[in-house]
Amino acid sequence: MGKIKIGIYELTGCAGDALLILDCESQLLDIFQAADIEAFLMAKSDNSHGPVDVALVEGSVTTEEEKEELLAIRDRAEIVIAIGNCACEGGIQAALTASENWSKEFRQVYQDLKLTNVKPIPSQPIDAFIKVDYYLPGCPIGQEQFLTTFTRLLAGHPPELYRFPVCMECKWRENDCLLNKNLACLGPLTKGGCGAVCPSHNLPCIGCWGPAEEANRSAEFKLLLEKGFDLESIKRRMAIYAGTTIVDFFNQLKKEKS
Ligand code: SF4
Ligand code: SF4
Repeated sequence: MGKIKIGIYELTGCAGDALLILDCESQLLDIFQAADIEAFLMAKSDNSHGPVDVALVEGSVTTEEEKEELLAIRDRAEIVIAIGNCACEGGIQAALTASENWSKEFRQVYQDLKLTNVKPIPSQPIDAFIKVDYYLPGCPIGQEQFLTTFTRLLAGHPPELYRFPVCMECKWRENDCLLNKNLACLGPLTKGGCGAVCPSHNLPCIGCWGPAEEANRSAEFKLLLEKGFDLESIKRRMAIYAGTTIVDFFNQLKKEKS
């Protein structure tokens, strides 16, 4: 059996996930020996556009051209894995972009500038356009998470799934809850897997692993209001890494208020 063929692709984002893979310095040679890395713009210049067993896609889709590129990646890959918050949720650039104000906000930044090489569209996660097989959340993804996934892929296994929120890992570490200290921690709303690294250093979670399945946003929203946080600051905090998924929640809140 030949080596597994892997392509690592980057759409719109800070390239932090690709950088993190490059930063696996002591494992990098083994990675390149164990698999055929067909495409990895940040690491090599002879990138192929041929078929791959696994495509790791970082970044959100923010232009028509990226949409086409993504569709072509899906066509030639057996398995597509979204890596990082931008690919999984749309990233910070997708926060509230599903709002009807997108064109207005776009003009506020770019005014009447004519863009000739790209056709911008509201930022969206990659599963808005293609079927995604697995997700590696995080901003950026973790090294241990990537290396474990890579090893599992070599053995023909899918990535590990984390179905619990950050709070669970925080409790396993026996941390005192920061909400009790009046800090706006988003642990209850956020996918686990990072090891609750922030609350373990007395820093409230800001949700960079993206929204947890079945997160009870209403309860956290109410709790933070009761603790004296103002509505706009809670909304901003909850929106940072929740991408387009938070829009429905905010629309519902608006309806309930009116
Ligand atoms: S500190 Fe944050 S992550 Fe830890 S238990 Fe409290 S809310 Fe959850
Ligand atoms: S604790 Fe929250 S903000 Fe910190 S790394 Fe984990 S998910 Fe991200």
